[in-house]
Amino acid sequence: MCRALGWLWGICLWLCAGAASAQAVQVVPGQGQLVLHEAAEVLEDPTGQLTLDAVRGQRFAPATGGLSSFGFTASAYWFRFTLDNPGSAVLTRLLVLRTNWLDTVDLYAPGADGQPVHRRFGDTLPFAEREVDAPQFVVSLPVAPGQHTYYLRITSSQAFMTPMELWELKAFHESDRRWSAYYGMFYGILAVMVLYNAFIWTSTRDRNYLAYCAYLLSFFLMNAAYNGFAYQYFWPESPRWSNWAHTPFIFGFQVVALWFSMSFLESRQRTPRVHRVMQVYLALTLVAWAAVTVAGDPVAYNAAPVYFIFLGTPLILTAGLRAWLRGYRAARFFVLATMASLTGSFVTALTVSGLLPYTFVHFHAAEFGILVDVVLLSLALADRINLLYQQRRAAQAQATRQRLQASFQLEKANIRLEQQVQERTAELARARDDAEQLARLDALTGVANRRSFQEVAEREFLRARRYGHPLAVLVFDIDLFKQVNDTHGHAAGDMVIRAVAGIVRGAVREVDFLARIGGEEFAVLLPEVQLLDAQRTAERLRELVADWRGAFEGRALRCTASFGVSIVEADDPAFDTVLQRADQAMYAAKQAGRDQVSVYGSVF
Ligand code: GH3
Ligand code: MG
Ligand code: MG
Repeated sequence: MCRALGWLWGICLWLCAGAASAQAVQVVPGQGQLVLHEAAEVLEDPTGQLTLDAVRGQRFAPATGGLSSFGFTASAYWFRFTLDNPGSAVLTRLLVLRTNWLDTVDLYAPGADGQPVHRRFGDTLPFAEREVDAPQFVVSLPVAPGQHTYYLRITSSQAFMTPMELWELKAFHESDRRWSAYYGMFYGILAVMVLYNAFIWTSTRDRNYLAYCAYLLSFFLMNAAYNGFAYQYFWPESPRWSNWAHTPFIFGFQVVALWFSMSFLESRQRTPRVHRVMQVYLALTLVAWAAVTVAGDPVAYNAAPVYFIFLGTPLILTAGLRAWLRGYRAARFFVLATMASLTGSFVTALTVSGLLPYTFVHFHAAEFGILVDVVLLSLALADRINLLYQQRRAAQAQATRQRLQASFQLEKANIRLEQQVQERTAELARARDDAEQLARLDALTGVANRRSFQEVAEREFLRARRYGHPLAVLVFDIDLFKQVNDTHGHAAGDMVIRAVAGIVRGAVREVDFLARIGGEEFAVLLPEVQLLDAQRTAERLRELVADWRGAFEGRALRCTASFGVSIVEADDPAFDTVLQRADQAMYAAKQAGRDQVSVYGSVF
């Protein structure tokens, strides 16, 4: 149904166009712009050999009322239109062919003598030969009163479409100013974005910014080439290069677009399968580029890069969508941005290939697309910075946490170690104290031993002498102790020694100092005690020992002891002197019959 309607509509258009073609285009002052291609009849010359005279007799296809677009072709095309100037004065007009890459254009305008005047232009001629310095073709076309038919023969190895317009001078210059403003703004935005991204790249060294700069630059080169600015400003002397350059620029744009997409989407890590497909496609693009470059067929050479846009665009968009679906946040912006610019290029490519009707929006879609792209991609790159910033902050927080944890553990270990060291030190100190104590104590009785008695006595002796204080010494020895051992055994003897030590220790003052200085021989230091008091103390101790009753293995034990007493004299050179005197007194007691106290001095 739709199809039938489409056919019907097509036939209507054809009929209308046919009717229009029969009529001449009226040219009167104040029209501004006339669209000629809608009224032009067309004749294809596949051989490219036909001359003006030859085509005059040929039957042209009637005007379609729209723009004829022939895609990529090696044919020459003839266009014919009739202008009708109803006035009496010659009208000065400009013929404008918007497609700047047409190779050759032969214009046959009727001359004053009725003979056609031939003018040739096209981008295979040096730019300097142009009548008007403009990227598109602008030639003056005086329209004489009456009806006149004009012929144009056009060839183009690049996409074949020919918007033809007839302009009044003033209107054309006004329109041209608007176009200049448009392109000034457009290239200005591109330049700013390139500088902006290059600046970010130099400070962040993030490869994506470099890739995006390259993407914008390659778009700029491609766009400046197909809009004719590259030829006009960069290489006006090199028409051959200018014609040849379109293909590398369009291919270059696609290669950079693929590189940028893979880099930005991190496809190698995030979507490896898509990444491999893109790599293969990239290789295919390069091979195709090389192939058409060496093959030398101008139509294939120019058509290939445009057709590759039809394949590359969906591929890159698919890659973006995959990354987005996999949860890559930055891919959202990428898909939207790239959708805008690539879809724009896609639409432009469709237009120049003749698959979409030529309209202002269709032809300039690539430019609008890239404008949307730069805005969205700036957001995407900013979003990416934000994402990286967040990731870094999270990593830093994690590192700080780990560092704190580690130092906390270390601190704990240190404290534990410190405690262990302290415990160990205390243990050692205790052991040392114990050892020292042991070295000073007598193992059998627990009272001081001879060594410590010696130390303490020396000290007390010096103090007594210095301050003139009294100091008495008792020495006592258990009587006939050998018999105890012999009768009851060594163990019983030990028991007796312990018992005597215990009795004496319990009976002397706190400040008195008891020591076992021999087998069954003891000494007591009595500070601040005069001779008489010392003697009394000795007597008391003697009685206590004598009163003691012990038992060992059922047998009764008892003992006595003999005491010698002495005190420090003013002229005593050392404590030993005092001790010897006490000893002598003790032996005197033994000799006097034992179990008695003898005071040195009283017997000597
Ligand atoms: P005197 O009244 O003259 O002091 O006679 P004594 O037998 O006590 O004198 P002597 O010095 O001949 O004998 C002391 C004995 O004491 C000799 C020794 O075997 C004994 N003896 C010394 N030290 C210890 C000891 O630690 N334990 C025991 N069981 N006997 C000891
Ligand atoms: Mg004895
Ligand atoms: Mg003895």
